[in-house]
Amino acid sequence: MSTIFTKIINKEIPADIVYESDNVLAFRDINPQAPVHILIIPKIEIPTIKEIKGSEHAVLLGEMYDAANEIAKKEGIAEEGFRLVFNCGNNAGQEVYHIHMHLLGGRKMTWPPG
Ligand code: 5GP
Repeated sequence: MSTIFTKIINKEIPADIVYESDNVLAFRDINPQAPVHILIIPKIEIPTIKEIKGSEHAVLLGEMYDAANEIAKKEGIAEEGFRLVFNCGNNAGQEVYHIHMHLLGGRKMTWPPG
């Protein structure tokens, strides 16, 4: 089932897009949890990380990590460090069932996460 992220991909609703390629889109989170909080998503609909298969999605995931590195540099957080997070399912607090990598940075973070 499509989510609000498909509407963002199709430019049916606005988003602050910071990166776009044929396969990947990245935009600022509407409810940022850090000075830099960007969501990096594939343009194809994959509900959760449970549906990921290395044999099928390795290149796509690689592109998402390349995007994260490029954006982190552009946002000026690459040197100080940043966090990449995929929430998967209810216990992890996944709200949008279209996989997305959270790129968080610009402040010191704690560990473990809540
Ligand atoms: P999750 O909890 O599923 O890992 O993260 C979903 C994220 O999507 C949340 O951080 C939430 O703030 C963000 N989000 C939900 N709806 C929208 C939206 O319409 N636009 C943007 N830019 N972010 C959204």
